[in-house]
Amino acid sequence: MKTDVFIGLGSNLQEPSAQLAGAVAELAALPDTTLIAQSPFYTSSPVGPQDQPDFVNGAVWLSTGLDPHALLDQLQAIEQAHGRERFSHWGPRTLDLDLLIFGNHVLDDDRLSVPHCELPNRDFALQPLLDLKPDLTLPNGTAVAALRAQCPDNRLRRLLPPDYS
Ligand code: ATP
Ligand code: CA
Ligand code: CA
Repeated sequence: MKTDVFIGLGSNLQEPSAQLAGAVAELAALPDTTLIAQSPFYTSSPVGPQDQPDFVNGAVWLSTGLDPHALLDQLQAIEQAHGRERFSHWGPRTLDLDLLIFGNHVLDDDRLSVPHCELPNRDFALQPLLDLKPDLTLPNGTAVAALRAQCPDNRLRRLLPPDYS
């Protein structure tokens, strides 16, 4: 059985749009997984430390037979392959892949909180989700559109298609 999952992508180092485009292709190639759709990309102001470049963000909708922790393993392997280093919490990074929604699963353990805890506070995650599926809801029934309407502003700007690659 497959589950619909939504992954948030972010980068603010080493050609962020190209990092995201590469990651989308790698996510589409994961075992037992199909890419349903990818969102437009956006630029956003950083959360946390402000002395770093703006981010490029997007999201993908996958259908996967992987379980949540196996998918997290795969996301972290892709981050590593993109040279992800942890300089500081919420600091600059070549690639960040966050598991935002995993079907109707609600998980909170040492490695994984799903839906992602910060989702309601992040327009750069909520807007791409809405682009993918305007009627998307969290497992508790909250509409992503309602969260987006209440979310703080991160100066989100949509990138035009030529900036994708
Ligand atoms: P934030 O989680 O606030 O976006 P971050 O993306 O910078 O911060 P990371 O350093 O990428 O944080 O990840 C720290 C840890 O978060 C990971 O090692 C992972 O085990 C854990 N984690 C918990 N829930 C999730 C999730 N839904 N998606 C990805 N990682 C998660
Ligand atoms: Ca993150
Ligand atoms: Ca992360």
